[in-house]
Amino acid sequence: MKYSFKIGSVFGIPIELHITFIILLLVVLVFSRYYFILVIFLFVFVTLHELSHSLVAKHYNIEVQKIILYPIGGASQIESIADKPNLEWRLSIAGPLASFVIGLCLFALDLIIPIKAPFTTTRRLFYDLALLNVLLGAFNLIPAFPMDGGRVLRAYLAEKRGLSDATKYTSWIGRLLALIMIGVGVLVDWWLILIGVFIYVGATEERERPIRSITESKVSAKDIMSLEIATVTPENSLNEALEVMFRAKYHDALVEKDGNFMGIIAWNDILQILPEQRDSIKISQLPLRLITVFPNDSILEIYKKMTKENIDMMPVVEQDNPNQVIGVITDKSLSSAYEKAKSHQ
Ligand SMILES: [Zn+2]
Repeated sequence: MKYSFKIGSVFGIPIELHITFIILLLVVLVFSRYYFILVIFLFVFVTLHELSHSLVAKHYNIEVQKIILYPIGGASQIESIADKPNLEWRLSIAGPLASFVIGLCLFALDLIIPIKAPFTTTRRLFYDLALLNVLLGAFNLIPAFPMDGGRVLRAYLAEKRGLSDATKYTSWIGRLLALIMIGVGVLVDWWLILIGVFIYVGATEERERPIRSITESKVSAKDIMSLEIATVTPENSLNEALEVMFRAKYHDALVEKDGNFMGIIAWNDILQILPEQRDSIKISQLPLRLITVFPNDSILEIYKKMTKENIDMMPVVEQDNPNQVIGVITDKSLSSAYEKAKSHQ
């Protein structure tokens, strides 16, 4: 069943109205004629909000398939650019920014011409319309998927920690916020529960989206593994291991002795040791993580293992020679796999 209906197009982008918007219009019509007018304006403001996302997208030659208008902000179906954080945050911030600018203009207008709102005694029209825009902008800045704020947060984290970590953290924060909202909603008001559920579902979906699209394209470990491997020996000190990790820009390093794989030493494990002891303690004195995957393993399985172990490097070994590492899967190879999967779609 179709839940949204095309009502026109702007700049060649089809605009659809979601059924919840129509239901909201009918519901408020029963309660108050003034709120009915506000919802009509809300429709215009959401459209402007979405168009500003789309205009930024067009500016950077990012494809916009369509805009669907929901009462809480709408969703532009824009080609995924999660792997380009410095574009994603610009694109995501454009909507809330437009809402705030419109809000400020309306506040100014209210100062100049404080006209009375129709069907009311005390309210002022421009003031309420300004408030509507500020709320729209602020609500969309909630740092959780599928809100704009979630994308801004992910883009910010992606520049520092890589895309897959950034998606993981943002999804985690989003679900936490959603649960808090549902909790507060139970005590305060039902619409908070509704928004909480909406955000919870969105946050969960976004987390698995890139990995699912890689898996669907049947890319396996051997297609994306990297041959640049950061290795240390069990005789190296912890400081030497940190240096190797730092140079290779990985949080983990492979431990090999005479070409045989002994395990992974993780950055986090070394940080548990006091800095002044890191020169005298050898890697062999720390517990190593013995975890590997095979060349034909699915990316989804590998991703799950890496998340569970909290490592950003996974050694790939031959099936018939598990002591021989032939490559590693890293955060970077996962995002390039995502790139490949996208071009195969
Ligand atoms: Zn938006």
